[in-house]
Amino acid sequence: MDVAAILAGLPRRHQRVYRALAEDADNGRQCRDNGALALVAELHSVGASSAIVTDLERRGLIRVVRGHNSRVVTVVATGRSTAGEIRTPRHYGPRAPGAPPRKRPLAVRPERKPDDALVNRPPDRTPCVFCGTRGDLGCRHRRAPAEAPAPIEQGVEG
Ligand SMILES: [Zn+2]
Repeated sequence: MDVAAILAGLPRRHQRVYRALAEDADNGRQCRDNGALALVAELHSVGASSAIVTDLERRGLIRVVRGHNSRVVTVVATGRSTAGEIRTPRHYGPRAPGAPPRKRPLAVRPERKPDDALVNRPPDRTPCVFCGTRGDLGCRHRRAPAEAPAPIEQGVEG
């Protein structure tokens, strides 16, 4: 892998992030966090740091093991890693080609309690606009609440 050639084809900020990571690894230091990377690489946002780290990883320039609030980066070209150890790696970042899909716990929808105000609301007594029958009684135009629909009246033929 021609790292220099790959790097040369990447944006400046990628190169700066790569250099910072390589420097941490060479010195056996902990990998700097996204805020520090954003500063050294002159990025607009902290989020841009992790995006670039992931991109460098996807391009095979680095390997990353991520923990909850830290990461260990191995620079592929030198084989050197930043300090630290991640005991419970988190699996985000690029997936290996052909890797099985990540398991994600099914979302559990909380059981909905029927809204008492809706269930026990008083019947609507507004009279029918056609025949004036109270709405809670039901008529052939409107069915009474909580009742089967009124049978459709068959017009008498002839
Ligand atoms: Zn009616």
